[in-house]
Amino acid sequence: MSNRFSGKVAIVTGSSNGIGRATAFLFAQEGAKVTITGRNTQRLEETKHEILKAGIPEQHVLAIATDLATEKGQDKLINETIKKFGRLDILVNNAGALFHDAQGRNGIAQDISVYDRTMEINMRSVVTLTQKAKKYLIEAKGEILNVSSMAAGPQSVSVIYYAMSKAALDQFTRSAAIDLIQHGVRVNSVSPGVVATGAGEAMGMTPEMEQKLSVFSQYFNFVESHKDCIPCGSVGRPIDIAHIIAFLIVNCLLISLDKRL
Ligand code: NDP
Repeated sequence: MSNRFSGKVAIVTGSSNGIGRATAFLFAQEGAKVTITGRNTQRLEETKHEILKAGIPEQHVLAIATDLATEKGQDKLINETIKKFGRLDILVNNAGALFHDAQGRNGIAQDISVYDRTMEINMRSVVTLTQKAKKYLIEAKGEILNVSSMAAGPQSVSVIYYAMSKAALDQFTRSAAIDLIQHGVRVNSVSPGVVATGAGEAMGMTPEMEQKLSVFSQYFNFVESHKDCIPCGSVGRPIDIAHIIAFLIVNCLLISLDKRL
């Protein structure tokens, strides 16, 4: 295993499960000091346990249980990371959620509270966390990586508020990239297709609820049984996306060294 992140400090939001967990694991395996975070302490401990089991020193991992939908929670995440590791090189804005209407409605019929909750974690929290991390990322000439979704594309989807939040995130990525490059900070994003992460379970749904309520689950079942629709023939795994995130960050770091950004 290479040491592409040796000497770097990374925060990976949403690392108590799924894509974030795989990304934090990969970064730690490749030498980074990593802050892992989520609200669910048990799942957060599972992530930490996986990292330590791979032989990574305990002092390279900081677990912060916090709600990123609150600015207080975001302050805690940044402040404790700086207190422990003294710097911040990489911010992966991965935490996100696909909420469902309590009455199972889709499209524009979904209750507006679904819109508010979705925007709060998928978009607003990314903006405010980035604002709070900016100073440290500028000092380190660091990297921001936002996790978007193929749902942000121009095709229409029934999970309208989720798709809107990710389309807004894409525009934030483009505009923040232009804004922050003058300070030597690069901003990129990845837009995964369907990835098997157990997202419904992580949101507290029983398998029965998930089958019945989760649009994601229905979509997942569809693609699982129509693999001919997927060019590579299989549903994505969290580690596949983690590798893309690592690739983007490492190569941006190399470009920045070449240009002395
Ligand atoms: P999971 O549901 O598996 O994980 C979501 C993570 O976000 C969890 O660690 C969860 O932590 C955290 N999170 C959610 N809300 C909050 C909050 N208020 N405060 C702190 N942490 C929070 O999701 P995935 O791994 O599937 O998704 C990760 C990202 O990838 C998301 O942005 C998602 O939109 C995107 N994506 C996923 C796809 C997929 O097919 N899975 C496809 C395209 C994009 P906790 O529950 O502990 O708070």
